[in-house]
Amino acid sequence: MNKQHLDKIISLCKRKGFVFPNSEIYGGLKASYDYGPLGVELKKLISELWWKEMTRSHQNIVGLDSAIMVHPDVWEASGHIANFNDPMTDNKDNKKRYRIDDLLSRQKSKVIDAICSKLNMENTSNDDIYNDIAQTLLSDGAKSDGVLENAGVIDPYSGSIGKWTSAVQFNLMFKTDSGPSEKTGKSIYLRPETAQGIFINYLLVQNTMRLKVPFGIAQIGKAFRNEIVARNFIFRTREFEQMEMQYFVHPSQDDSSMELWKQKRLDFYLNHLGVKSENLKFHQHNEDALAHYAKDAYDIEYNFPFGWGEVEGIHNRTDFDLKQHEKFSGKNMTYFDTKSQEKYHPYIIETSTGLNRLFLMVLCESYFEDTENNRVVLQLPYELAPIKAVVCPLVKKDGLPEKAMSVFDALNKEFPCVYDEQGSIGKRYYRQDEAGTPFGITLDHQTLEDESVTIRERDSMKQTRVSIDKISTFIHDNK
Ligand code: ATP
Repeated sequence: MNKQHLDKIISLCKRKGFVFPNSEIYGGLKASYDYGPLGVELKKLISELWWKEMTRSHQNIVGLDSAIMVHPDVWEASGHIANFNDPMTDNKDNKKRYRIDDLLSRQKSKVIDAICSKLNMENTSNDDIYNDIAQTLLSDGAKSDGVLENAGVIDPYSGSIGKWTSAVQFNLMFKTDSGPSEKTGKSIYLRPETAQGIFINYLLVQNTMRLKVPFGIAQIGKAFRNEIVARNFIFRTREFEQMEMQYFVHPSQDDSSMELWKQKRLDFYLNHLGVKSENLKFHQHNEDALAHYAKDAYDIEYNFPFGWGEVEGIHNRTDFDLKQHEKFSGKNMTYFDTKSQEKYHPYIIETSTGLNRLFLMVLCESYFEDTENNRVVLQLPYELAPIKAVVCPLVKKDGLPEKAMSVFDALNKEFPCVYDEQGSIGKRYYRQDEAGTPFGITLDHQTLEDESVTIRERDSMKQTRVSIDKISTFIHDNK
């Protein structure tokens, strides 16, 4: 799959009602998207699978829905005000702004070599080098002015060497004001991660549910980051949905718990989302790239049409967050183990994924150009298909539409179906292939004689004659 496929997927998303560009009638808002009728269903199905896997499959993991706007001190304590920054640079010629690591990833290797030699760094030739250079530029301050320009760093927008400003930190949180912030002089921020809502509530959750360490708290909700570069369709947007689970463990159990969750999370992609193992890999963060709170971190990466990209982070956040909240709030954040009589701050193993990125991953994984049959098929697993079956009368006469509608009404109570009587039967099937609908059910003249229908399967295009009262059994057995 290559970059061209992404354009085809974007176009399919719009055509079939999965994802629309936001505010299109006003010329659009960059990197903002709306989810159409099929998109909202697919998003819901992915999040339901995640929720089921992360809460209902575990007796010791519970859910939470915390607020997007929280007390401003939460972000002081979490370190986001001081540390949630991306190093950036502007091209003085055209005022275009770039995240430095992203800008560098789009340069020729000889340019990176030149920068490394100027900064006395070893070129490790892996992706971490871009972030390492960005951090060095920042810490060298004015000393490294001119390094990017002299090394010949090209502005991807203009195609020529940019006049780059020195590296500066850009905070990614969206700031706003609300009632109390005017009194305290402190701004309110839109949360950049759902995790902090879990940390500040963890003792309330633990107490109300009588949980014992180890236990987990899961949450799905919107998060906001003022990303400098938002691109690759819904891969990176400024508003997105996170699905996070924070697992509270005894400090001596952090490494084993990390291993356990790495495996469980990988299994989720393979077994529930139907992703092929060759399209997934782990990437361990090197020490320089670790977030300010993390002791160890792995990303699960997916092979997108534009290259490997992170879909989920699994982090050992240690007791950093709980201790910080204790310090800033003045409230005791320790857990008391009634059995061992031990009082401690649990370590936290975090699994954090983006619903929108999983959505894109699922679409990329299931997009298939069936050149032999001249069609495009979304080979979605049955569980993820927004519509499970299309019901079609072969012709619009002889009572077939009425009969088909009654079949539709009955099946639609069991699973989501659509009714379609427009165009040739081949066209109707192909329309649904692009939407990922696994089954096509057609009523014809034989139906009127013997109450049987044809069921056509999306991927194999196999057709089977089945009696009306056996349709749902057939679908159940062949899904
Ligand atoms: P990246 O390196 O891609 O910016 P990150 O390491 O900052 O991501 P985390 O803070 O670990 O990401 O967030 C966890 C998950 O949230 C990511 O794996 C991703 O699926 C999702 N996510 C993060 N930022 C965005 C975004 N801007 N748009 C969509 N999803 C996002």
